[in-house]
Amino acid sequence: MHLLKGIAICISLSVTQICASNEGMCMTKTQCSESEEGTTTRKLYSEDFNKYFDAIETALAAYAPCNSTNCNCHVDVLKADLKPFKAKGITREMINRAKQYGTHYQVIDNKLYRQRECMFPARCSGVEHFVKPLLALLPDMELIVNCRDWPQIHRHWSKEKIPVLSFSKTAEYLDIMYPAWAFWEGGPAIALYPTGLGRWDRHRKSITQVSAAWELKEPKAFFRGSRTSDERDALVLLSRAQPALVDAQYTKNQAWKSPQDTLNAEPAREVTLEEHCQYRFLFNFRGVAASFRFKHLFLCRSLVFHVGDEWQEFFYPSLKPWVHYVPVPVRSTPEELEALIRFFQEHDKLARDIAERGYEHIWNHLRMVDVECYWKKLLKRYGKLIRYTVERDTSLIEV
Ligand code: UDP
Repeated sequence: MHLLKGIAICISLSVTQICASNEGMCMTKTQCSESEEGTTTRKLYSEDFNKYFDAIETALAAYAPCNSTNCNCHVDVLKADLKPFKAKGITREMINRAKQYGTHYQVIDNKLYRQRECMFPARCSGVEHFVKPLLALLPDMELIVNCRDWPQIHRHWSKEKIPVLSFSKTAEYLDIMYPAWAFWEGGPAIALYPTGLGRWDRHRKSITQVSAAWELKEPKAFFRGSRTSDERDALVLLSRAQPALVDAQYTKNQAWKSPQDTLNAEPAREVTLEEHCQYRFLFNFRGVAASFRFKHLFLCRSLVFHVGDEWQEFFYPSLKPWVHYVPVPVRSTPEELEALIRFFQEHDKLARDIAERGYEHIWNHLRMVDVECYWKKLLKRYGKLIRYTVERDTSLIEV
């Protein structure tokens, strides 16, 4: 790999350059440059480039593909999330205190009951789609399902450990992650998906079908979405400065009031997830919490650049940085983003290999059966932690 690294860097710099070692650094400044400015940029790149080579090499050496039987690729996540409740179990008092953080469900005699009001009906319905088929297997239990974007139980600020199920969290939270409603329905409603993003099973097929051959993809970076987090700004600014390198633009969301909400530009046209596949480099960013976009991008067989590593969904830990996607530090500057994109423009084979591994991983380990399997394992193990006899709350309705 080191030899490969040296050769690749020599090629990627200039034909007039002389490479001194297998680290690929240029021997002298004069030999390496046509101009002072060019030298500085290239030297900067070659240092960054060495960093990327090392990161890929190290990640690949440590990587062992996971075994997809019985959603084993993801099972460590639910074990870790349930661990805080292992010693004392889940008590009636804990559930009563947790009720303020989400929608109250009961499973009694293999029937599902829910509090009448649900803040986001399509999200509750997306959750129930996965829970109902499991009822025959489940012991009596009570669940508090948070259907908001934000997790609820902060590891340090919350006074006690209480069980709340949320779709996304950071390591700071004790919430128990469940596969989001949006695998079925209730995802963000944008003009393109007016009833809300959902049906992962259908997207798996429709996006994969149009995932263009690598050679046909435009070798530029792409992002389309609203400004749910300003962590997206650097890429949008880079796109405005270098439209040939990046096409990243803000779209309207329901909160849009003026061009200020799209970083002082008119909102861009929304682009279907399928259309994303025309581009070689696809960016993912957190939104309010994790963005549902992430999993779809892999289906394009394009190279996914994932910004930040804080916000998780249940399947994120199975994806490995530099193996399946390119990790991008939060708050990278436009210049840093440019160096990273240029590295993969100039090292096509590396880009393509990571893209292919990312696609294979999501295609093979994030099937609808894996989502259903995760729900099953999660609820069976959660049910074993219940330490009391669940009594029917008559204010709940059967769903
Ligand atoms: N989306 C899309 N095309 C667009 C804009 C958004 O497909 O042009 C999808 C995107 O993939 C994401 C959802 O709509 O899953 C919401 O995107 P947004 O950026 O508004 O919010 P996020 O949830 O990412 O914070």
